[in-house]
Amino acid sequence: MDSAARPLVAAEGGPVGSDGIDIAAVNEAQRRAQVSMLFSGRSPSEDEIRLALEREAFKAEHKGHEKKHFVMFLIFVAVLAMLPPTVRYWRRRHPVSYRLASIGSICLIPPYFALANQYFRFVTIWLIYAAANTYILYLATRTPLYPRTPRRIYQWFALTNKVSYMIFLIGMVLFCFCFFNAVPGLTDTELFVENSMLTVFYGLYFGLVSRDLVALCSEKMAATLGYAVSNGLPTKYLPHGVCCICGDELGNTSSRSNNSDRNSMSFEHIGEPSSSMTKEAPMEPTHKLECEHEFHACCIRGWCVVGKKDTCPFCLEKVNLAMFKRNPWDKQEMHYVSALEYMRFLVGWQPLVLMLLAGVFWVLGLE
Ligand SMILES: [Zn+2]
Ligand SMILES: [Zn+2]
Ligand SMILES: [Zn+2]
Repeated sequence: MDSAARPLVAAEGGPVGSDGIDIAAVNEAQRRAQVSMLFSGRSPSEDEIRLALEREAFKAEHKGHEKKHFVMFLIFVAVLAMLPPTVRYWRRRHPVSYRLASIGSICLIPPYFALANQYFRFVTIWLIYAAANTYILYLATRTPLYPRTPRRIYQWFALTNKVSYMIFLIGMVLFCFCFFNAVPGLTDTELFVENSMLTVFYGLYFGLVSRDLVALCSEKMAATLGYAVSNGLPTKYLPHGVCCICGDELGNTSSRSNNSDRNSMSFEHIGEPSSSMTKEAPMEPTHKLECEHEFHACCIRGWCVVGKKDTCPFCLEKVNLAMFKRNPWDKQEMHYVSALEYMRFLVGWQPLVLMLLAGVFWVLGLE
C-alpha cells in the first residue's frame, strides 16, 4: 500500500559515470538543493531535509492517483462499516465456526507476528501457555469426564484470569507513573513507556485467550456429560443429588444452604485434594440456584464466574450473578472485560480485515 515510500538515500557505490562522478550522489545533491529551497531563508536540519525528501518522492510516485486513492478510501470505509454487522450475523448464524475463527485468529495471529518480528520473549511465554492449555483441553475433552476435571479446569482459568488481570493492572499503574513523571531517577523514559504498554498488552492478550478457552472447555464438558444443552430442553435425565456440571454426587450436604455457608463459595475450596472427599466425610459445600437446581459450590461458581455464563447449566434459567460478586475487584473487572473486547478486535479481527483489504486491492489492481 501507499505507506511504504521508497528509500531515498542514494545507495553507497551507486552507478558511476564515465568521468568518474557518482551520478546518484549528484542527483541526491540536486534533490537536496531543491528541497532546501522550501525552507525559505533558514537552513534546515538533516532530519527536516530527509522528511521533505520523502514527502517529495511520495508525491512524485503517486502523481495522478487521486481518483484511485479515493476508491481505495471508499473500499476501506465500506469494509470497516460492514465489519460489525457481518461479525454479529456470523456469530448468530454459525456460532461454532465463529467461535473457532475467533479463537483461532486470537491464538495464532499474535505469535505469527511476534515470530516475524523476532519478539522471542512473547513467543516463549506463548509456547509455555499453549502447552499448559493443551493439557487442559486434553482433560476437558476426555470421555467419560473425570468428576474432578471441571473444578480443576475452573481453578486453572480462575488463576490465569487473575494473573493476567494483575499484569494488566501493573502495566496500567506503571504507564500512569511515567505519564505523570513520577518515577525518580528514570533515565530512559521511552523504554519505560514501551515496557509498561507491553505489560498491558500481555495482560490483555492472555486474559482474552483464557476467557475464550474456558468458555470452550465448559461447553465441551457440558456436552460430554449430556445433562446441559446449549438450547432447548435437556435430553438426559438428571438423577436426584447429582451435580450436572461434573456429574458427581452432591453428597448429603444439601441441608447446608448457601446463606448459612457463604464463605464456602470462595475459590479456596476449588481443587482440594480428592482424598478430602470420601464417603465418610461428604462435606463438599453445595449451592442451590433460584430454579431449585443444586450444584457443588465450586462447580457452579466456576461455571458462572470463571466461565462467564449467566444461566443455570441444566434448565437455562437466568442466574442472578450478583450473588457471586462479593469482592470489589469483580466490579472493577468490568473495565478489564471491555478492554478485552477491544483487544479481540485489535489482535483478532483487525489483521484479518487488513489482509482482506490487501487482497481486494490486489484483485482490483490497486496498489
Ligand atoms: Zn497511489
Ligand atoms: Zn460438581
Ligand atoms: Zn436450573
